[in-house]
Amino acid sequence: MSTMPTSLDVSNLAICKENALKVVNEEIMLNAVYLNGQWVTIEVTHESDAALKEQNLFDPSSAELIAKTRLASAHYVDQAARAAEQAFEDWSNTAVSDRARYLSGIADEMQKRFDKLVSLSVLNNGKPIVEAELDVNDAIACYRYYAKLIQNQPSQSLVETGEPSVRLYKCNEPVGVCALIVPWNFPMVTTAWKLAPALAAGCTVLLKPSEVTLLPELMLGNILEEINLPKGVVNILPGGADVGAAMTSHPLVDKISFTGSNVVGEKVMVQAAQGIKDISLELGGKSAIVVRADANIDLACELIVGGIFANCGQICSATSRLLVHADIAQTLFSKLKIVIEALIVGDGFDSTTQMGPLVSEAQFKQVKKYFDIAADEQLACLTGGQTLQQEGYFVMPTVYTEVPTTSRLWREEIFGPVLVTQTFSSDEEAVKLANDSQYALAASVVSTNEQAAMTLARQIRAGHVWINEFQIVLPEAGWGGFKQSGIGRELGEDGLSAYQKSKHILLPN
Ligand code: NAD
Repeated sequence: MSTMPTSLDVSNLAICKENALKVVNEEIMLNAVYLNGQWVTIEVTHESDAALKEQNLFDPSSAELIAKTRLASAHYVDQAARAAEQAFEDWSNTAVSDRARYLSGIADEMQKRFDKLVSLSVLNNGKPIVEAELDVNDAIACYRYYAKLIQNQPSQSLVETGEPSVRLYKCNEPVGVCALIVPWNFPMVTTAWKLAPALAAGCTVLLKPSEVTLLPELMLGNILEEINLPKGVVNILPGGADVGAAMTSHPLVDKISFTGSNVVGEKVMVQAAQGIKDISLELGGKSAIVVRADANIDLACELIVGGIFANCGQICSATSRLLVHADIAQTLFSKLKIVIEALIVGDGFDSTTQMGPLVSEAQFKQVKKYFDIAADEQLACLTGGQTLQQEGYFVMPTVYTEVPTTSRLWREEIFGPVLVTQTFSSDEEAVKLANDSQYALAASVVSTNEQAAMTLARQIRAGHVWINEFQIVLPEAGWGGFKQSGIGRELGEDGLSAYQKSKHILLPN
């Protein structure tokens, strides 16, 4: 999902700020929900909450206003839930080949609008073009993957039993009406990881994009209209926490799939308890990258930089804790400092940019807070540790060395371009340090000894481990963490099962 941009294809001139703003003005339905197959204008129901329901969208690279929009309220959640409930019977009985055709249709329409989606993503999120391209490409791959997978899954299968007088069948049934809630860091792909398997399984959906990155997500409504998805199957609710809370506690919702922070994840779990809803949670991370003494230093630097500075560190699986063998630490740090200080930080639309701004003022303040904590804790700063003196939400790519494991910077998810490091002297110590976290989402190992790296990969508690590789996430590989990084898996066959429940039918032989 993330590689650090090294060189950019500048031939595609359609992807530029001017065109992005044009798309916003001409094609994006602001102030509307996509409800029961059509765009419905959001009306303010109470004078007093009008201000609360407004959302300004800013260009993170300049802090300039891009668009003013209105957010939905709980009232629309109820309408959406009823529409999804009504659509469920037909959609869950739609032939699997037809559901697959709709999924392929979404992928085709995304491909047709590729430049527009990428432009909206760069404009709204601040990420460099290549990272926005990854977001859209991975989303397309995900819709195609589930279109294929659902057609290959038998709708019922005979189960071998020890009882010869009966036959037992296992069937996969859709779980029902699903509330899908996504964050802003990879808007297209985090949505696809939920929406594609939910639709494939025969579920109907209430989708709440992050209020921060509405622009690319609203384009999805245009796509659903274009492919004539039956009405009510997907309802898009641009909204904030109140809309999320209304979705997760709505009596017609059977399943919640949430990606976001642990603070909100805990609230979602409590909300889901009402009515005993099925739940999947993709939460935070504080992943380790372990560099063994036998590692290729150049490759290690590339993987460290890609692992923490791609998407300006705003990746759940960002390898934000570097564990390096003491014997090579100084050599690695010297090289790393040179590589990091050569990174080009700038506007995502600039073809030379390697790291963009943070997504929002809130995220900017959050990272700045950790710079202040680091100063208070007197952490040794190898590079960075400051904001950039220019318009927009820019901070410097930052590394602190020999950070105590009691430090807040070691323990907490910063969600910004801040790397903390520690040294180790044995693989046992590396595993202990890697596992010293409440999170357990992902990890990387860099070593020329594949067997030793595999042993480490098995011992580190994480849902996904890369060895000598960038953070590639394939649709076939289940995604999710251990410990407080979440519950359940997305992608792969597990990602489809998350939207299905088994039913067993027993009859005489
Ligand atoms: P967030 O928790 O602030 O918001 C996530 C979503 O929840 C948004 O759509 C938000 O509007 C909604 N929300 C807020 N309050 C709610 C409530 N009470 N009930 C229901 N919904 C509510 O997270 P964020 O800042 O958008 O994203 C960053 C976080 O997401 C990081 O912690 C990151 O690690 C995590 N993340 C995890 C994965 C993963 O796969 N594990 C992937 C991407 C991001």
